[in-house]
Amino acid sequence: MDVFGKLSTYDFGEVHFKLDKASQLQAIVAIHDSRLGPALGGCRFIEYDTDEAAYIDALRLARGMTYKAAITGLAHGGGKSVIIKPKRHFDRSALFSAFGRFIEDLRGHYITAEDSGTGLEDMEIIRTQTKHVTGIDPSHGGSGDPSPFTALGVRRGIEAAVKFKLGKDDLKGIHVAVQGVGHVGYYLCKELHAAGAKLTVADVDKLKSERAQREFGAAVTDITKVAEVACDVFAPCALGAGLNDSTIPHLKATIVAGAANNQLLEPHHGDDLHARGILYAPDYAINAGGLVNVAQEAKGYDAKAAREKTLKIYDTMYDIFERSKRLGAPTYKVADLMAEEQLAAHSARLVAARQKA
Ligand code: NAD
Repeated sequence: MDVFGKLSTYDFGEVHFKLDKASQLQAIVAIHDSRLGPALGGCRFIEYDTDEAAYIDALRLARGMTYKAAITGLAHGGGKSVIIKPKRHFDRSALFSAFGRFIEDLRGHYITAEDSGTGLEDMEIIRTQTKHVTGIDPSHGGSGDPSPFTALGVRRGIEAAVKFKLGKDDLKGIHVAVQGVGHVGYYLCKELHAAGAKLTVADVDKLKSERAQREFGAAVTDITKVAEVACDVFAPCALGAGLNDSTIPHLKATIVAGAANNQLLEPHHGDDLHARGILYAPDYAINAGGLVNVAQEAKGYDAKAAREKTLKIYDTMYDIFERSKRLGAPTYKVADLMAEEQLAAHSARLVAARQKA
């Protein structure tokens, strides 16, 4: 594996590895950038075919967190952790305790939270080993599951996209196809249903799509067909890389806006969407609600402040769409530019402060 070559490709940063044989912990913490503050990002716990796949996932996700915090105006750097889910039977409590000790060893340079495959109970176990964890139980002063906040932000992003692209002020009658109705996808369906949208859902876990059908009147489709549904908005809320050469030519939606991280398999897929006239809501900008919520927890939790900041995702998204139109550039490039402007402005402020001191 080309370890340093990959680091260079993603402009890192630092990466930490941990093997704890007793608990079968194999974990990677990727810290992409900490100019704006300590790196904050979730912990993913899924199976990977190879160590390299886990490593690349951690790098890509951590880089996304730097941009997400910057574009959202949060004083945090970008980091992410990945735990490779053991294929053999394992003790979850022992594994997450070992992970907590690993996080403690990093002395606050990285703060963890939930992501795919981890939940509140895991954060509670981590909390027994380190204070550098967010998304903990509200009964312990935490902000709890970030998914409802992520979903709220995605709903706001969809509203901005619908206003920009379709000229509509609300979501009544807007047809959204949601790919993946897990933590975020479920709450997103709830938000959209309450706003009067029409839903089609697909999930590898049939029980989850049936729940959305029961609770929100969603139509259920096959996971291989959901990207092709004739709808207004395609909302990827499963894992990443769903926008690629096989899916983009078949999209019928005019808007792609969902919660999943790293939706574009390669950056050029953002150009392909732009060329096809499909408005793409850059993933890290639209799905920042969960980060807003856990960042609030890191400085003393205030649910009202977290909600108000999450609602502002509408403005960020609209700004991206307008700049994209003005510059004639794909939205993913515009979002990167806006995040890089924030990082550069912060660095300039630091340099000025040092010169003054
Ligand atoms: P989750 O694991 O709870 O949900 C993902 C769902 O997608 C599951 O129900 C799974 O069965 C389903 N799925 C997997 N492959 C699929 C496929 N090919 N087709 C259809 N469904 C499929 O995870 P989550 O917490 O809801 O996160 C979803 C995405 O949003 C991830 O990419 C995550 O990184 C991103 N995200 C989550 C949060 C958060 O607050 N949880 C915040 C920001 C971004």
